[in-house]
Amino acid sequence: MQKYALPPYKIKMVEPISLIGKDERVKRLKEAGYNPFRLRSEDVYIDLLTDSGTGAMSHFQWAALMQGDESYAGSRSYYRLEKVVKDITGYNYILPAHQGRGAEQVVIPELVVHDNMCFISNIHFDTTRAHVEIAGARAIDCVIPECFEISKYHPFKGNFDLKKLEQIILEKEAKNIAGIIMTITNNSAGGQPVSMENMRAVNVIAKKYGITLLIDGARYAENSFFIKKREAGYENKTIREIAKEVFDLADIFLMSAKKDGLVNIGGIIAIKDNFELFQKCQTNIVPKEGFPTYGGLAGRDMDALAVGLQEALEESYLAYRIDEVRYLGDLLREAGIPIQYPTGGHAVFVDCGEIAPHIPFDQFPAQAVSNALYIEGGIRPVEIGSLLLGRDPDTRKNIKADKEFMRLTIPRRTYTMEHLRYVAECLISVYKNRKDLKGLEFTYESPILRHFTAEFKPVE
Ligand SMILES: *Cc1c(COP(=O)(O)O)cnc(C)c1O
Repeated sequence: MQKYALPPYKIKMVEPISLIGKDERVKRLKEAGYNPFRLRSEDVYIDLLTDSGTGAMSHFQWAALMQGDESYAGSRSYYRLEKVVKDITGYNYILPAHQGRGAEQVVIPELVVHDNMCFISNIHFDTTRAHVEIAGARAIDCVIPECFEISKYHPFKGNFDLKKLEQIILEKEAKNIAGIIMTITNNSAGGQPVSMENMRAVNVIAKKYGITLLIDGARYAENSFFIKKREAGYENKTIREIAKEVFDLADIFLMSAKKDGLVNIGGIIAIKDNFELFQKCQTNIVPKEGFPTYGGLAGRDMDALAVGLQEALEESYLAYRIDEVRYLGDLLREAGIPIQYPTGGHAVFVDCGEIAPHIPFDQFPAQAVSNALYIEGGIRPVEIGSLLLGRDPDTRKNIKADKEFMRLTIPRRTYTMEHLRYVAECLISVYKNRKDLKGLEFTYESPILRHFTAEFKPVE
């Protein structure tokens, strides 16, 4: 028995990468204002900023691109995609979108039908939260507390806190709940899965109060794999069967196809049977994304997606994908580095508040560790902590995050375990010298979404 799953593919085409010298890295990072977002990707050796649109397509997908039918209305590409999404979800109405947030901006405003409404999610993803707020509603998170006990094992840290969910509904009244959003896997908590049992219970609650149930399913295939591996009764089901069972529970499926669609760009809206809602979205999508049969995508993008969706449901692919993340997590844990455990589907979340307790939260410990990792090995992680959280809109004070995470996000089918071993070695070296880490102060800060463009200098 292998300790980690083996890759179910070999390399057919390569994209050269190189590690620029250390002096050069120091210079580039300074020019980038000590913000990895501002680095050029050519100056990065291993890019772990995101798993969104950064995966490698298969030769079947590259071949499918050539079939792309560049028609505005009713292309063959659209119908090929529609068929695949209908087969996987069992839903009736399918609209493509240019990416996940495109799908959100079409559907979410249609669910906000009066003032003072809210959405409840295990944890809203940032763009989902933004679209909820733009639509004039509030976003309330409702994840189990175990989610934040990072060193303690729990098989489904993405689960809803069911008691709290029902309390919120009673408090706010069902008519004011625009929807319950099941984020699978739960991105913001480390790609943590949600169990079938939990989703079934959420479905019962949604039905009881007549509330629309949405799936924010960028990583629904990874979530289905975790159910197969960790939940009793699912050992012998296929990933497709498990996914179908999940879709049966909800009314609407929104997807950033840049994740489990295995494409570089794309999104999906699927509606089970609410024809009236579909008609509204069909109208709304035109000015926002494009005509309902292309939604901001070229025909070839839809063809690549139709193939990618099916490949992402293959168990051998998922086994290796999830084990790559686990492998990196294990190497770090063995060295005593605190991470969200068990590792989730798409990233290792490193607790930098614990690594650099001498750096105050408003000098951004996880950004400091990220920068040190770039200098050490040309690796680009991303800060998921107080820098990302921003300032209180009323007091303009920095908000303190629960955890100062650095996310090492693993693109799909892109890096080998050898690359990840290198990442672990570099981070272990940063960890050994953690006393030397310095906090950061702003030299430029934009009023919103500051983490993308901010510039800093190290605090002396
Ligand atoms: C990425 C993501 C989105 C937004 O999708 P984009 O394709 O980046 O616009 C929404 N929800 C979740 C859970 C995501 O991970």
